[in-house]
Amino acid sequence: MVKSTFEAGTPGPPSDPARRSPSAPADAARLPGKRVVRARGVAPVLPLRDLTAAAPVPAAPSPGVEPAAATVPGKALGSSTPPSAGPGERGDVRTSGAEQAAPTSPTSPTAPAARPSGTIPASLAIGEAEGVGPTGRPRPELPTPAPLDRHGPARILAMCNQKGGVGKTTSTINLGAALAEAGRTVLLVDFDPQGALSVGLGVNPLQLEQTVYNLLMERGITVQDVLLKTDVPGLDLLPSNIDLSAAEVQLVNEVAREQTLQRVLAPVLDDYDVILIDCQPSLGLLTVNALTAAHGVIIPLECEFFALRGVALLIQTIEKVRERLNPHLELEGILATMYDSRTLHGREVLARVVEAFGDKVFHTVINRTIRFPETTVAGEPITTYAPSSHGAHAYRELAKEVLAR
Ligand code: ADP
Ligand code: MG
Repeated sequence: MVKSTFEAGTPGPPSDPARRSPSAPADAARLPGKRVVRARGVAPVLPLRDLTAAAPVPAAPSPGVEPAAATVPGKALGSSTPPSAGPGERGDVRTSGAEQAAPTSPTSPTAPAARPSGTIPASLAIGEAEGVGPTGRPRPELPTPAPLDRHGPARILAMCNQKGGVGKTTSTINLGAALAEAGRTVLLVDFDPQGALSVGLGVNPLQLEQTVYNLLMERGITVQDVLLKTDVPGLDLLPSNIDLSAAEVQLVNEVAREQTLQRVLAPVLDDYDVILIDCQPSLGLLTVNALTAAHGVIIPLECEFFALRGVALLIQTIEKVRERLNPHLELEGILATMYDSRTLHGREVLARVVEAFGDKVFHTVINRTIRFPETTVAGEPITTYAPSSHGAHAYRELAKEVLAR
């Protein structure tokens, strides 16, 4: 059984756990739950990997790269907020028509040099043609989600990839927040003992009295006992901390060990429209529990060279769970994350992903931007931290896609 290790870039416990959020959501009539204990002011070390260094692009900025001055306006935060991306911040990548222009590098797809089998679709090679998205397919017109007059039963989606640092937690928080913004009631389940989902929503994992661990392991504990309401109306959280790592060992001796999460979530299915489970980076018993409880799996894939490594094993695991434990389980979609359209490398990897998974790849692609690490520090989703940013827009589009699938 592989135990997850603490990922580089995941912030440690917050320094000021007693701070509470000033705003209170107007969803008090919903499930009883405690308020999230805010944990702003976390001082993390969040290094971004130098994607561009690995990519065959010219040293000078690509012709279409948006100048840093055009930084997306974000909500001003207090002094505890780290400085946002400055001019030339390499992580702050946004997409625009011009940004997709082909690089002038001699290794550009138009160069005669022999290219390995995964050739780039024409639309990717020359930039996004009108109506064609970054995945090289025509971008569908997605309907704005219609308001609901009642909620549930929940569709459960597991955010799963045994590779760490690919955007599972970031996508869980922001897809959840975008779905809540679209009027859906959403429950996020932190199913990673690292508790990054909880931290990302402003919770100090060290201060939790009850967590998902208690829910799984102790009889008589209900979802309501563990539930926290976030600052986003309609978005609830089942938080976790390192205690959950013990569950992986202790569950082994339980009857119907793989169905434990499914069993404890069953009583609240009618209260939510969507339940998102943020899996840990392993294919151990906790992840199998998530896959057994879920109707669908979303696989976040970093647009990076090694992204596809290990995905075959993940797909095999999904198939095994479908055969043996959960016949309803489907591969909901592959979400390309940390995409850098400026680099040939990024476009090439995305082309490979589309080649391998076809229509399973979401049309929405999440760009690499410093805004996401910033939101973790702020302890809130990008949809509230920088509501008009490209990242917020992307997760709203993803929410529409998920609701349309
Ligand atoms: P996982 O849950 O798969 O381990 P995370 O969502 O925690 O991955 O992301 C790992 C790190 O990468 C975090 O520091 C996060 O802020 C950062 N990150 C996630 N998505 C992006 C993105 N699109 N652009 C830049 N950084 C990102
Ligand atoms: Mg994570």
